Amino acid sequence: MSKAALKAPSFSRSVLTWFDTHGRKHLPWQQDRSPYRVWVSEIMLQQTQVATVIPYFEAFMARFPQLHDLADAPLDDVLARWSGLGYYARARNLHKAAQMVRDQHDGIFPTNFADVLVLPGIGRSTAGAILSLALNQHHAILDGNVKRVLARVFAVDGWPGKTLVAELLWQHSERLTPKKRVADFNQAMMDLGAGICTRSRPQCGLCPLQRNCVAFSEQRQTDYPGKKPKKTIPVRETQMLLLSNANSEVLLQRRPPTGIWGGLLSLPEISMDDDVSGWCEKHLGFAVEEQTCWPVVRHTFSHFHLDISPVLISPANATGSNSHTMSVMEGPEWVWYKGCADIGGLPAPVARLLAKMREASV
Ligand code: SF4
Repeated sequence: MSKAALKAPSFSRSVLTWFDTHGRKHLPWQQDRSPYRVWVSEIMLQQTQVATVIPYFEAFMARFPQLHDLADAPLDDVLARWSGLGYYARARNLHKAAQMVRDQHDGIFPTNFADVLVLPGIGRSTAGAILSLALNQHHAILDGNVKRVLARVFAVDGWPGKTLVAELLWQHSERLTPKKRVADFNQAMMDLGAGICTRSRPQCGLCPLQRNCVAFSEQRQTDYPGKKPKKTIPVRETQMLLLSNANSEVLLQRRPPTGIWGGLLSLPEISMDDDVSGWCEKHLGFAVEEQTCWPVVRHTFSHFHLDISPVLISPANATGSNSHTMSVMEGPEWVWYKGCADIGGLPAPVARLLAKMREASV
C-alpha cells in the first residue's frame, strides 16, 4: 500500500476543504435536488461535458418536469429532446427506466441501491452517484474523472477497462469515500477530475491532492490512467439516398428499434453493391431521371467508421407525396420530411446532409 493510501481521512478532508471554496454548487441539477433530476443529469453527463449538458438538461426538465411526464411521453418526443447529445441509447434507456419506475415503484424513484442498479442504463457508479448526490447515501463512485484522479494519486497501472484495474480503483474509491458529506465529496472528486486533474494538462499546482499524489511526485501524470490497447476499428460503407419530391420534402425511413440510431428517422440506405436506379425502381416504384454522387462522409462510432456515400436522386414524375408513382413510400416506416417539421432526433450526419441539401436548393 502506498504512503498516500494510508491517509484516507486526510484525503477526504483535503478534498472537502477544496470543495468548500472551489467546488461547483450552482449546477441546475444541484437545485431542487431529487433522485429524478440527478439521474437525468448523470445520464446526460455520461458522455458529455457539463457546459454542453446544461441547456439540454434545462430544456428536458421544462418538457418532463416529473418522472411520470417522462414515462408517459412518446419515445420520439424524448429522442427529440436528446437530439444533438448523441449516444441515443441513453435516451431510450432513460425512457424505459422511467416506465419501469412508474410501473414497479408507483412512479417514485427507488432509494435502494439494488433497485436502482437494475434500471436500464444505470451501472454501479451511476447508481452510487444518484443516491449519494441526491440523498447523501454512502456510496462510492468511479466515473471517468474519478478514475483518472485515483489512477494518478495511487499510480495504478493498466487500462481501467480491465476488470482487475477497475476493481483496484473501486477499492480505493470505497476506502476513501467518507461517511459524512458524501454528496459533497463525490461532487468534489468529479469536479477535480473535470477541472484540475484533466486528461492532458493537469493543474497540479491547484490540486489539493498534490502532496499525496504519486504520479505528481514522479512527474508521470499523463502515464495514468493506462491507455486502452490500440486496435484498428473496421470501416463499413453505405449509400444514403437523398430523394426529394416536388414539394421539396425529403424521403426519410424509420430505422429498426435496435442497432445504430435505433428508432430514429434517417435517410434510406442501400448497400454499396446495389445499383441505385434498379433499387429505386424495385423498392420505391419509380424511375430515376438523374443521380449525383456527393463526396463520402465519414462518421465514427466507438467500434467502427461508417463511410457514407450520399446519392442525390431526381425521380422521374415526382409530383408530391400523393403521387401514385411514390405511393409505395406511404406507410409508418416512411416520412416525407419538410425541413422545419418536428420529427424527433436525426442522426448527426443525416442532419448535416439535409442541411447541405437545403443549401444546394436555394
Ligand atoms: Fe491530478 Fe496533479 Fe492532482 Fe495528481 S496532483 S491528482 S496528477 S492534478
